[in-house]
Amino acid sequence: MITRPKGTYDIYGEDAKYYNYIKGVFTSISELYNYNYIRIPIFEDSSLFHRSVGEASDIVTKETYDFKDRGDRDLTLRPEGTAGVVRAYIENKMYGDVNQPIKLYYEGTMYRYEKPQTGRYRELTQFGVEALGSDDPMQDAEVISLAYRAMEEMGLENITVKINSLGDKESRDNYREALKKHIEPYLNDLCSDCQNRFKTNPLRILDCKVDKEHEALKTAPKISDYLNEESRERFKKVLEYLTYLDIDYEVDDNLVRGLDYYEHTVFEIVADMEELGNANTVGAGGRYNNLVEDLEGPATPCVGFACGIDRLIIILKELNKDRDIMSGIDVYITAVNEEEKLRALTLAQDLRLSEVKCEIDTLNRTLKAQFKQADRLKARILILLNSEDLKKGIITVKDNLTHEETKVDENEILDYIISNI
Ligand code: ATP
Ligand code: MG
Repeated sequence: MITRPKGTYDIYGEDAKYYNYIKGVFTSISELYNYNYIRIPIFEDSSLFHRSVGEASDIVTKETYDFKDRGDRDLTLRPEGTAGVVRAYIENKMYGDVNQPIKLYYEGTMYRYEKPQTGRYRELTQFGVEALGSDDPMQDAEVISLAYRAMEEMGLENITVKINSLGDKESRDNYREALKKHIEPYLNDLCSDCQNRFKTNPLRILDCKVDKEHEALKTAPKISDYLNEESRERFKKVLEYLTYLDIDYEVDDNLVRGLDYYEHTVFEIVADMEELGNANTVGAGGRYNNLVEDLEGPATPCVGFACGIDRLIIILKELNKDRDIMSGIDVYITAVNEEEKLRALTLAQDLRLSEVKCEIDTLNRTLKAQFKQADRLKARILILLNSEDLKKGIITVKDNLTHEETKVDENEILDYIISNI
Protein backbone atom coordinates (compact mmCIF):
# COMPACT_ATOMS: atom_id res chain seq x y z
CA MET A 1 0.00 0.00 0.00
CA ILE A 2 1.25 3.47 -0.85
CA THR A 3 0.87 5.81 2.11
CA ARG A 4 0.76 9.59 2.31
CA PRO A 5 4.05 11.48 2.53
CA LYS A 6 5.28 12.31 6.03
CA GLY A 7 3.78 15.49 7.43
CA THR A 8 0.71 15.48 5.17
CA TYR A 9 -2.83 14.44 6.00
CA ASP A 10 -6.11 13.94 4.19
CA ILE A 11 -8.91 16.35 4.94
CA TYR A 12 -12.24 14.52 4.78
CA GLY A 13 -15.31 13.83 6.89
CA GLU A 14 -15.69 16.17 9.85
CA ASP A 15 -12.35 17.91 9.12
CA ALA A 16 -13.59 18.73 5.62
CA LYS A 17 -16.77 20.29 7.03
CA TYR A 18 -14.69 22.55 9.27
CA TYR A 19 -12.25 23.27 6.46
CA ASN A 20 -15.01 24.50 4.15
CA TYR A 21 -16.66 26.40 6.97
CA ILE A 22 -13.45 28.25 7.90
CA LYS A 23 -12.76 29.06 4.26
CA GLY A 24 -16.32 30.33 3.91
CA VAL A 25 -16.07 32.64 6.93
CA PHE A 26 -12.73 34.10 5.79
CA THR A 27 -14.00 34.57 2.25
CA SER A 28 -17.17 36.37 3.24
CA ILE A 29 -15.44 38.58 5.81
CA SER A 30 -12.72 39.50 3.30
CA GLU A 31 -15.36 40.41 0.73
CA LEU A 32 -17.15 42.57 3.33
CA TYR A 33 -13.89 44.40 3.95
CA ASN A 34 -13.65 44.85 0.18
CA TYR A 35 -10.68 42.53 -0.48
CA ASN A 36 -10.55 40.73 -3.84
CA TYR A 37 -9.54 37.14 -4.45
CA ILE A 38 -6.17 36.34 -5.99
CA ARG A 39 -4.89 32.91 -6.99
CA ILE A 40 -1.15 32.58 -7.21
CA PRO A 41 0.98 29.57 -8.25
CA ILE A 42 1.88 26.84 -5.76
CA PHE A 43 5.44 26.89 -7.09
CA GLU A 44 7.56 29.91 -7.91
CA ASP A 45 11.10 30.68 -8.98
CA SER A 46 13.25 29.70 -5.95
CA SER A 47 14.93 33.10 -5.81
CA LEU A 48 11.59 34.76 -5.00
CA PHE A 49 11.53 33.20 -1.54
CA HIS A 50 15.25 33.57 -0.95
CA ARG A 51 15.03 37.28 -1.62
CA SER A 52 11.74 38.00 0.15
CA VAL A 53 11.37 35.71 3.15
CA GLY A 54 15.12 36.09 3.67
CA GLU A 55 18.23 33.91 3.17
CA ALA A 56 18.66 33.64 6.92
CA SER A 57 15.08 32.88 7.91
CA ASP A 58 14.15 29.44 9.29
CA ILE A 59 11.83 28.95 6.37
CA VAL A 60 14.52 29.38 3.73
CA THR A 61 17.44 27.75 5.55
CA LYS A 62 15.57 24.66 6.72
CA GLU A 63 12.05 24.36 5.45
CA THR A 64 11.67 24.87 1.70
CA TYR A 65 10.90 22.17 -0.84
CA ASP A 66 13.26 23.03 -3.68
CA PHE A 67 13.39 21.12 -6.95
CA LYS A 68 14.46 21.35 -10.54
CA ASP A 69 11.86 20.86 -13.25
CA ARG A 70 12.49 19.07 -16.53
CA GLY A 71 13.69 22.33 -18.06
CA ASP A 72 16.35 22.64 -15.35
CA ARG A 73 14.59 25.58 -13.66
CA ASP A 74 15.06 26.09 -9.92
CA LEU A 75 11.62 26.08 -8.37
CA THR A 76 10.29 26.09 -4.81
CA LEU A 77 6.93 24.99 -3.44
CA ARG A 78 5.59 28.14 -1.77
CA PRO A 79 6.17 28.20 2.01
CA GLU A 80 3.90 31.23 2.42
CA GLY A 81 1.70 33.51 0.35
CA THR A 82 3.00 37.07 0.69
CA ALA A 83 6.00 36.69 -1.62
CA GLY A 84 3.83 35.32 -4.43
CA VAL A 85 1.21 38.05 -4.01
CA VAL A 86 3.88 40.74 -4.13
CA ARG A 87 5.45 39.13 -7.19
CA ALA A 88 2.01 39.13 -8.86
CA TYR A 89 1.42 42.76 -7.82
CA ILE A 90 4.65 43.86 -9.50
CA GLU A 91 4.44 41.61 -12.56
CA ASN A 92 0.83 42.62 -13.30
CA LYS A 93 1.58 46.31 -12.59
CA MET A 94 -1.24 46.53 -10.08
CA TYR A 95 0.46 49.64 -8.71
CA GLY A 96 -0.83 51.40 -11.83
CA ASP A 97 -4.47 50.55 -11.09
CA VAL A 98 -6.72 53.55 -10.42
CA ASN A 99 -8.23 51.74 -7.43
CA GLN A 100 -5.78 52.00 -4.57
CA PRO A 101 -4.86 50.50 -2.20
CA ILE A 102 -4.87 47.04 -3.77
CA LYS A 103 -6.56 44.71 -1.28
CA LEU A 104 -6.24 41.00 -1.95
CA TYR A 105 -7.08 37.74 -0.21
CA TYR A 106 -5.82 34.25 -0.98
CA GLU A 107 -6.15 30.74 0.32
CA GLY A 108 -4.19 27.61 -0.41
CA THR A 109 -1.63 25.01 0.56
CA MET A 110 1.89 25.94 1.63
CA TYR A 111 4.88 23.62 2.02
CA ARG A 112 7.46 23.57 4.79
CA TYR A 113 9.89 20.80 5.66
CA GLU A 114 9.15 20.79 9.39
CA LYS A 115 9.18 18.17 12.10
CA PRO A 116 5.53 17.09 12.05
CA GLN A 117 3.46 17.35 15.25
CA THR A 118 -0.03 18.47 16.24
CA GLY A 119 -0.77 21.65 14.32
CA ARG A 120 2.52 21.50 12.43
CA TYR A 121 2.56 19.83 9.04
CA ARG A 122 4.63 19.77 5.86
CA GLU A 123 1.61 20.63 3.77
CA LEU A 124 -0.43 23.30 5.51
CA THR A 125 -3.25 25.54 4.42
CA GLN A 126 -3.23 29.25 4.94
CA PHE A 127 -5.73 31.96 4.43
CA GLY A 128 -4.34 35.47 4.12
CA VAL A 129 -4.90 39.04 3.04
CA GLU A 130 -2.52 41.73 1.80
CA ALA A 131 -3.24 45.46 1.52
CA LEU A 132 -0.72 47.04 -0.85
CA GLY A 133 -0.30 50.79 -1.26
CA SER A 134 -1.32 52.34 2.06
CA ASP A 135 0.98 53.45 4.87
CA ASP A 136 -1.89 54.59 7.10
CA PRO A 137 -1.91 52.96 10.58
CA MET A 138 -5.64 52.59 9.99
CA GLN A 139 -4.79 50.04 7.31
CA ASP A 140 -2.86 48.00 9.90
CA ALA A 141 -5.89 48.16 12.20
CA GLU A 142 -8.22 47.07 9.40
CA VAL A 143 -6.12 44.00 8.59
CA ILE A 144 -5.90 43.00 12.26
CA SER A 145 -9.61 43.50 12.80
CA LEU A 146 -10.44 41.41 9.75
CA ALA A 147 -8.48 38.47 11.16
CA TYR A 148 -9.85 38.98 14.65
CA ARG A 149 -13.49 39.30 13.57
CA ALA A 150 -13.23 36.20 11.38
CA MET A 151 -12.05 34.15 14.34
CA GLU A 152 -14.70 35.65 16.55
CA GLU A 153 -17.33 34.73 13.96
CA MET A 154 -16.10 31.13 14.13
CA GLY A 155 -16.78 31.13 17.85
CA LEU A 156 -13.14 31.05 18.95
CA GLU A 157 -12.74 31.94 22.59
CA ASN A 158 -9.59 32.91 24.46
CA ILE A 159 -7.79 34.47 21.56
CA THR A 160 -5.38 37.33 22.04
CA VAL A 161 -3.75 39.66 19.58
CA LYS A 162 -0.10 39.99 20.52
CA ILE A 163 1.37 43.06 18.93
CA ASN A 164 4.67 44.85 18.74
CA SER A 165 6.45 47.41 16.63
CA LEU A 166 9.82 46.77 15.00
CA GLY A 167 10.02 50.45 14.12
CA ASP A 168 11.65 51.84 11.01
CA LYS A 169 15.16 51.04 9.80
CA GLU A 170 16.87 53.60 12.03
CA SER A 171 15.10 52.30 15.16
CA ARG A 172 15.92 48.71 14.28
CA ASP A 173 19.58 49.48 13.56
CA ASN A 174 19.95 51.08 16.98
CA TYR A 175 18.13 48.27 18.70
CA ARG A 176 20.13 45.59 16.88
CA GLU A 177 23.37 47.04 18.23
CA ALA A 178 22.03 47.13 21.79
CA LEU A 179 20.67 43.61 21.54
CA LYS A 180 23.94 42.23 20.19
CA LYS A 181 25.86 43.85 23.02
CA HIS A 182 23.49 42.29 25.54
CA ILE A 183 23.44 38.80 23.97
CA GLU A 184 27.17 38.43 23.25
CA PRO A 185 28.26 37.29 26.75
CA TYR A 186 25.62 34.53 26.71
CA LEU A 187 26.24 33.42 23.16
CA ASN A 188 27.97 30.11 23.85
CA ASP A 189 25.08 29.13 26.05
CA LEU A 190 22.42 29.57 23.36
CA CYS A 191 21.28 27.02 20.76
CA SER A 192 23.20 26.71 17.50
CA ASP A 193 20.38 28.38 15.57
CA CYS A 194 20.66 31.40 17.84
CA GLN A 195 24.42 31.50 17.33
CA ASN A 196 23.81 31.73 13.59
CA ARG A 197 21.02 34.26 14.07
CA PHE A 198 23.45 36.42 16.02
CA LYS A 199 25.45 36.84 12.85
CA THR A 200 22.66 36.98 10.27
CA ASN A 201 19.62 38.48 12.00
CA PRO A 202 20.02 38.95 15.77
CA LEU A 203 16.43 40.15 16.25
CA ARG A 204 15.24 36.70 15.43
CA ILE A 205 16.90 35.32 18.56
CA LEU A 206 13.91 36.77 20.42
CA ASP A 207 11.65 34.46 18.41
CA CYS A 208 13.56 31.27 19.35
CA LYS A 209 11.36 28.44 20.61
CA VAL A 210 14.33 26.67 22.25
CA ASP A 211 15.87 29.52 24.22
CA LYS A 212 12.57 31.26 25.00
CA GLU A 213 13.05 30.95 28.77
CA HIS A 214 16.78 31.70 28.80
CA GLU A 215 17.92 34.54 31.05
CA ALA A 216 19.62 36.21 28.08
CA LEU A 217 16.25 36.59 26.40
CA LYS A 218 14.32 37.46 29.51
CA THR A 219 16.63 40.33 30.39
CA ALA A 220 17.10 41.56 26.83
CA PRO A 221 16.64 45.26 26.08
CA LYS A 222 13.21 46.11 24.73
CA ILE A 223 12.71 47.39 21.23
CA SER A 224 10.07 49.81 22.50
CA ASP A 225 12.88 51.76 24.19
CA TYR A 226 14.66 52.14 20.86
CA LEU A 227 11.81 53.35 18.66
CA ASN A 228 12.38 56.82 17.28
CA GLU A 229 9.69 59.46 17.66
CA GLU A 230 8.02 58.75 14.33
CA SER A 231 7.89 54.96 14.85
CA ARG A 232 6.59 55.43 18.37
CA GLU A 233 3.79 57.74 17.18
CA ARG A 234 2.86 55.33 14.45
CA PHE A 235 2.59 52.39 16.86
CA LYS A 236 0.52 54.49 19.26
CA LYS A 237 -1.95 55.21 16.48
CA VAL A 238 -2.35 51.53 15.59
CA LEU A 239 -3.05 50.66 19.22
CA GLU A 240 -5.49 53.53 19.53
CA TYR A 241 -7.45 52.32 16.50
CA LEU A 242 -7.55 48.79 17.88
CA THR A 243 -8.99 50.14 21.12
CA TYR A 244 -11.66 52.00 19.16
CA LEU A 245 -12.45 48.74 17.35
CA ASP A 246 -12.83 46.86 20.65
CA ILE A 247 -10.02 44.44 19.92
CA ASP A 248 -8.24 42.82 22.85
CA TYR A 249 -4.53 43.20 22.34
CA GLU A 250 -1.42 42.69 24.39
CA VAL A 251 1.83 44.46 23.59
CA ASP A 252 4.56 41.81 23.50
CA ASP A 253 8.08 43.23 23.50
CA ASN A 254 9.60 39.96 22.36
CA LEU A 255 7.43 39.53 19.31
CA VAL A 256 9.65 39.79 16.22
CA ARG A 257 8.21 37.26 13.71
CA GLY A 258 10.33 34.82 11.76
CA LEU A 259 10.40 36.51 8.37
CA ASP A 260 12.85 39.14 7.17
CA TYR A 261 10.53 41.57 5.49
CA TYR A 262 8.62 43.04 8.43
CA GLU A 263 8.92 46.50 9.96
CA HIS A 264 6.72 48.66 12.21
CA THR A 265 3.61 46.64 13.15
CA VAL A 266 3.98 42.90 13.75
CA PHE A 267 1.27 40.81 15.34
CA GLU A 268 0.20 37.27 16.14
CA ILE A 269 -3.16 35.87 17.08
CA VAL A 270 -2.65 33.27 19.76
CA ALA A 271 -5.13 30.69 21.01
CA ASP A 272 -5.02 29.55 24.61
CA MET A 273 -5.13 25.80 24.03
CA GLU A 274 -2.89 23.22 25.64
CA GLU A 275 -3.22 20.59 22.91
CA LEU A 276 -1.45 22.86 20.43
CA GLY A 277 1.76 23.23 22.46
CA ASN A 278 4.14 25.56 20.67
CA ALA A 279 1.86 25.50 17.64
CA ASN A 280 -0.74 27.75 19.29
CA THR A 281 -0.31 30.74 16.99
CA VAL A 282 -3.24 30.66 14.62
CA GLY A 283 -2.49 33.76 12.62
CA ALA A 284 0.28 36.24 12.14
CA GLY A 285 1.22 39.22 10.07
CA GLY A 286 2.57 42.71 9.93
CA ARG A 287 3.72 45.62 7.85
CA TYR A 288 6.31 45.18 5.12
CA ASN A 289 7.08 48.51 3.52
CA ASN A 290 10.25 47.51 1.67
CA LEU A 291 9.40 44.18 0.10
CA VAL A 292 7.89 45.51 -3.14
CA GLU A 293 10.98 47.63 -3.72
CA ASP A 294 13.31 44.76 -2.78
CA LEU A 295 11.63 42.72 -5.51
CA GLU A 296 12.20 45.54 -8.00
CA GLY A 297 8.76 47.13 -7.90
CA PRO A 298 8.02 50.77 -7.02
CA ALA A 299 8.24 51.62 -3.30
CA THR A 300 4.89 50.47 -1.87
CA PRO A 301 3.90 50.26 1.80
CA CYS A 302 2.03 47.04 2.60
CA VAL A 303 0.44 45.19 5.47
CA GLY A 304 -1.03 41.68 5.67
CA PHE A 305 -1.62 38.54 7.67
CA ALA A 306 -1.93 34.78 7.22
CA CYS A 307 -3.87 32.27 9.31
CA GLY A 308 -3.26 28.56 9.60
CA ILE A 309 -6.48 26.76 8.68
CA ASP A 310 -5.19 23.40 9.97
CA ARG A 311 -4.80 24.80 13.47
CA LEU A 312 -8.24 26.39 13.30
CA ILE A 313 -9.72 22.99 12.41
CA ILE A 314 -8.16 21.49 15.55
CA ILE A 315 -9.48 24.30 17.72
CA LEU A 316 -13.01 24.26 16.31
CA LYS A 317 -13.19 20.46 16.65
CA GLU A 318 -12.24 20.74 20.30
CA LEU A 319 -14.71 23.58 20.93
CA ASN A 320 -17.56 21.65 19.30
CA LYS A 321 -16.62 18.18 20.49
CA ASP A 322 -20.04 17.58 22.06
CA ARG A 323 -21.91 18.67 18.97
CA ASP A 324 -22.64 16.69 15.84
CA ILE A 325 -21.68 19.00 13.01
CA MET A 326 -22.34 16.51 10.22
CA SER A 327 -25.58 17.94 8.89
CA GLY A 328 -28.37 15.64 7.68
CA ILE A 329 -30.06 15.66 4.29
CA ASP A 330 -33.53 16.99 3.49
CA VAL A 331 -34.93 14.12 1.44
CA TYR A 332 -34.19 10.47 0.73
CA ILE A 333 -36.03 8.92 -2.21
CA THR A 334 -36.60 5.17 -2.10
CA ALA A 335 -36.98 3.24 -5.34
CA VAL A 336 -36.55 -0.43 -6.21
CA ASN A 337 -37.63 -1.34 -9.76
CA GLU A 338 -36.42 0.32 -12.94
CA GLU A 339 -39.52 2.50 -13.35
CA GLU A 340 -39.24 3.80 -9.79
CA LYS A 341 -35.52 4.34 -10.13
CA LEU A 342 -35.93 6.40 -13.28
CA ARG A 343 -38.51 8.58 -11.54
CA ALA A 344 -36.21 8.89 -8.51
CA LEU A 345 -33.40 10.09 -10.76
CA THR A 346 -35.44 12.90 -12.34
CA LEU A 347 -37.20 13.83 -9.12
CA ALA A 348 -33.85 14.11 -7.34
CA GLN A 349 -32.63 16.44 -10.08
CA ASP A 350 -35.73 18.65 -9.74
CA LEU A 351 -35.32 18.77 -5.97
CA ARG A 352 -31.62 19.59 -6.17
CA LEU A 353 -32.29 22.38 -8.66
CA SER A 354 -34.74 23.74 -6.08
CA GLU A 355 -31.93 23.69 -3.47
CA VAL A 356 -33.26 20.66 -1.63
CA LYS A 357 -30.46 18.38 -0.46
CA CYS A 358 -31.46 14.85 -1.39
CA GLU A 359 -30.13 11.37 -1.97
CA ILE A 360 -31.11 8.32 -4.00
CA ASP A 361 -29.85 4.74 -3.88
CA THR A 362 -27.14 3.71 -6.32
CA LEU A 363 -26.19 0.42 -4.69
CA ASN A 364 -29.29 -1.61 -5.59
CA ARG A 365 -30.25 -1.87 -1.93
CA THR A 366 -33.43 -3.57 -0.80
CA LEU A 367 -36.24 -1.30 0.36
CA LYS A 368 -35.44 -2.14 3.97
CA ALA A 369 -31.77 -1.27 3.50
CA GLN A 370 -32.79 2.02 1.87
CA PHE A 371 -34.83 2.93 4.96
CA LYS A 372 -31.79 2.23 7.10
CA GLN A 373 -29.59 4.35 4.86
CA ALA A 374 -32.10 7.23 5.04
CA ASP A 375 -31.82 7.13 8.85
CA ARG A 376 -28.04 7.07 8.73
CA LEU A 377 -28.13 10.17 6.52
CA LYS A 378 -30.55 11.81 8.96
CA ALA A 379 -33.11 12.46 6.21
CA ARG A 380 -35.91 14.81 7.25
CA ILE A 381 -38.36 13.47 4.69
CA LEU A 382 -38.68 10.20 2.79
CA ILE A 383 -40.22 9.98 -0.64
CA LEU A 384 -41.46 6.42 -1.13
CA LEU A 385 -41.79 5.85 -4.85
CA ASN A 386 -43.80 2.85 -6.02
CA SER A 387 -45.16 1.84 -9.42
CA GLU A 388 -48.77 1.63 -8.18
CA ASP A 389 -48.75 5.25 -7.02
CA LEU A 390 -46.95 6.47 -10.10
CA LYS A 391 -49.67 5.03 -12.37
CA LYS A 392 -52.21 7.13 -10.45
CA GLY A 393 -50.02 10.24 -10.56
CA ILE A 394 -49.43 10.37 -6.84
CA ILE A 395 -46.38 10.14 -4.59
CA THR A 396 -46.16 8.97 -0.97
CA VAL A 397 -44.21 11.22 1.36
CA LYS A 398 -43.21 10.22 4.86
CA ASP A 399 -42.09 12.58 7.60
CA ASN A 400 -39.08 10.81 9.07
CA LEU A 401 -39.60 12.39 12.52
CA THR A 402 -43.33 11.84 13.04
CA HIS A 403 -43.50 8.82 10.69
CA GLU A 404 -46.68 10.32 9.26
CA GLU A 405 -47.44 9.42 5.62
CA THR A 406 -49.15 11.69 3.11
CA LYS A 407 -50.21 11.12 -0.50
CA VAL A 408 -49.27 14.06 -2.68
CA ASP A 409 -50.28 14.85 -6.26
CA GLU A 410 -47.20 14.28 -8.45
CA ASN A 411 -47.54 17.77 -9.94
CA GLU A 412 -47.36 19.35 -6.51
CA ILE A 413 -44.53 17.34 -5.06
CA LEU A 414 -41.86 20.05 -5.33
CA ASP A 415 -43.98 22.71 -3.64
CA TYR A 416 -45.00 20.22 -0.98
CA ILE A 417 -41.42 19.26 -0.13
CA ILE A 418 -40.14 22.83 -0.16
CA SER A 419 -42.84 23.98 2.25
CA ASN A 420 -42.24 21.00 4.56
CA ILE A 421 -38.48 21.07 5.07
P1 ATP B 1 5.31 29.00 14.02
O1 ATP B 1 5.99 30.03 14.88
O2 ATP B 1 4.18 28.30 14.72
O3 ATP B 1 6.28 28.08 13.34
P2 ATP B 1 5.37 30.74 11.79
O4 ATP B 1 5.83 32.00 12.39
O5 ATP B 1 6.33 29.89 11.06
O6 ATP B 1 4.61 29.85 12.88
P3 ATP B 1 3.85 32.05 9.73
O7 ATP B 1 4.88 31.88 8.70
O8 ATP B 1 3.60 33.38 10.30
O9 ATP B 1 4.08 31.00 10.89
O10 ATP B 1 2.47 31.46 9.19
C1 ATP B 1 1.19 31.94 9.60
C2 ATP B 1 0.36 30.85 10.25
O11 ATP B 1 0.40 29.65 9.51
C3 ATP B 1 0.85 30.43 11.61
O12 ATP B 1 0.39 31.31 12.59
C4 ATP B 1 0.23 29.06 11.76
O13 ATP B 1 -1.13 29.14 12.16
C5 ATP B 1 0.28 28.53 10.37
N1 ATP B 1 1.41 27.60 10.21
C6 ATP B 1 2.72 27.91 10.07
N2 ATP B 1 3.47 26.80 9.91
C7 ATP B 1 2.60 25.75 9.97
C8 ATP B 1 2.75 24.34 9.85
N3 ATP B 1 3.92 23.76 9.64
N4 ATP B 1 1.62 23.57 9.95
C9 ATP B 1 0.41 24.13 10.15
N5 ATP B 1 0.21 25.45 10.25
C10 ATP B 1 1.28 26.27 10.16
MG1 MG C 1 7.48 28.23 11.62
